[in-house]
This record gives sequence, C-alpha cells and structure tokens, in this order.
Amino acid sequence: MPKNQPASSKPVTRLAPSPTGALHLGNARTFIVNWAMARTRGWQVRLRMEDLDGPRIKAGSAERTIELLSWMGLDWDGDTIVQSSDLSPYHEAMKGLCAAGDVFPCNLSRGEIQAASSAPQEGASEKAYPRSLRPTNAGEPVEFVEETHNYRFLVEESSTTIEDLVAGSRTFRLPRETGDFVAWTRRGTPAYQLSVVVDDIRQGVTDVVRGDDLLESAARQTLLYKALDRPSPRWWHLPLVLGPDGHRLAKRHGDTRVDTYRAQGMTAGKLIGLMATWCGLRPSLEEMTMEQFLDDFNLDLMSREPITFTEQEHAWLAS
Ligand code: GLU
Repeated sequence: MPKNQPASSKPVTRLAPSPTGALHLGNARTFIVNWAMARTRGWQVRLRMEDLDGPRIKAGSAERTIELLSWMGLDWDGDTIVQSSDLSPYHEAMKGLCAAGDVFPCNLSRGEIQAASSAPQEGASEKAYPRSLRPTNAGEPVEFVEETHNYRFLVEESSTTIEDLVAGSRTFRLPRETGDFVAWTRRGTPAYQLSVVVDDIRQGVTDVVRGDDLLESAARQTLLYKALDRPSPRWWHLPLVLGPDGHRLAKRHGDTRVDTYRAQGMTAGKLIGLMATWCGLRPSLEEMTMEQFLDDFNLDLMSREPITFTEQEHAWLAS
C-alpha cells in the first residue's frame, strides 16, 4: 500500500467531487456541511478530484469545480489529488489484493450475469453477482493483469455493520445485495469502491462525510479496508436532498446546478442562506455570509430526515 501522508494528530476529512461539471444543490449541501464540520472541529480538509469515472468527465470541469467550491467559500489544506494523474497507488493495492486471493478476474458481461440471476433467492438484489458464477479457484492468489480484466472482490461475510455517526447502526447483507463486487475494471482503472479506499488511506482520511446514498458503499469499503489491513474511517452519511415530489433531487426536477442559479444572479450569500435553513440554523430564508454560517453551525441542529428542496426555495434562489 502507498504510504499515508505524514501522520497528523488532527482528524482529516476530504472533499471528493466527481468533476462532471454538474455540482447541484444536493452536492453543495454535502460539501458545505462537510467543510463546516471540519472548520468548526479543527479537522484538516483534503481535496480530491474523482475523475476516473471515464465518459462522464468533461474537459475543464475540474477547474470549474475548484472555482465553484472557492466561490461557495470553501478551502482545503495540503496537496490536491487528481486520480487520473497517477494510477500506481491503485496498481499497488491491486497487486496486494491479488496476491492475497481477495479478488478474482471476471470477464462476464452484464447480460451474462443478469441471465444467471434470473431466479434470485428471496431478498437477493438483481444487480448482485450470483455466487454460482464465482470461479472454483476464487480465493487463490492470482496475477494482476492491469488492462484486460475486471476483477471482483470476494465477499465472504454474510453481514457487515456500519456504525454511522449520523445514520446510526446499519447492517448490510452484501452477499445478497451486491455479491462479489467489481474492484478493478477492464478499462484499466480502479472501480470507485477501490479508488476511494486507496485515496482515503493515502490522504490520511479519518472522517468521511457524504450523502447517505453511499451507505451501502461504506459496507463494501469496510471489507476493502479489512483486506488492506487498515482501520475504517468514521462514517458520517448525511440525509439526502429530495425534490418537491419526494424523490431524490435529480435532473427531472429541472436544472438545480449551482452554476445555473449563479448565472441567473444567485449570490453565494443566498446559497449559504438556503443551506442554513437546511441545516436547521435559520427558520427562514435570508442571505448569509460563510462566516455567520460557521459561527452558528452545529450538526446537532440538522434534521436526520431527508431535506426537501421546495418550489418556494427555488423561486427565492432564482429571484
Ligand atoms: N465522488 C463522489 C461523488 O461526488 C463522492 C464519493 C465519496 O464521497 O466517497 O458523489
């Protein structure tokens, strides 16, 4: 495994945007809460560009994402990691997992896997990789051939529990819910689950704050931490932001990108004001500086229920 950044006695968190060019209000909420937690608790903040997710990444969007985070009032400490700039830390981790027999090569297509899951056991997820497809020699050391194979991580534990500091104790049955999951892709890049763990280890991250759509990923990542012989970070998964119809904020709710509101004249003060109501710091919408936000910020005031982005809030931002 790559070496950690120099040990610091301070906790370390990270902002890990995928620079897809579309930071929407839900992402902004996660980043602002994450950053405010760090700045009010004396944590270090690292920045990481998660740009390995191939086709969705657009040219120039990393710079735009950095500009937008700064405009919101966020800053960070130390070097920024851009995942695509050096794949060697992921190669190294994979070599270790291969040597230990924790992963196995698998070149079945999605269609082939789905066909094999057509009669799932009760409670099994359709997207799970069925155990019946696992090669008989899985668990034995394999050679790491970087470019040509998918590699799947062997999921042996019947249940994995996450002690989340926001969402509470959550148990996942990964053999049924995901099965052996992809750790390395045949594109020659690590899958999200592996890159996140390798990067959090090398950036010395002790506290992961993100949306609770990634809770199940935290369970998978816990298994990777164990396999890499490292302790898991503390998890803080925040409730999602929903659209007015009660579904997760997404494209169908219209264009909720921060950039779009900004182009219509939204000030950073308005964005922070909206975040203040979402975090339980203010009963109603009013412009606010990041300084005031930090002064008042207290995670205990934030509801543990999903937040709804209302028509009224949209109108205020756009006015
Ligand atoms: N890059 C991911 C995203 O923007 C975050 C992944 C993580 O926090 O682990 O959704």
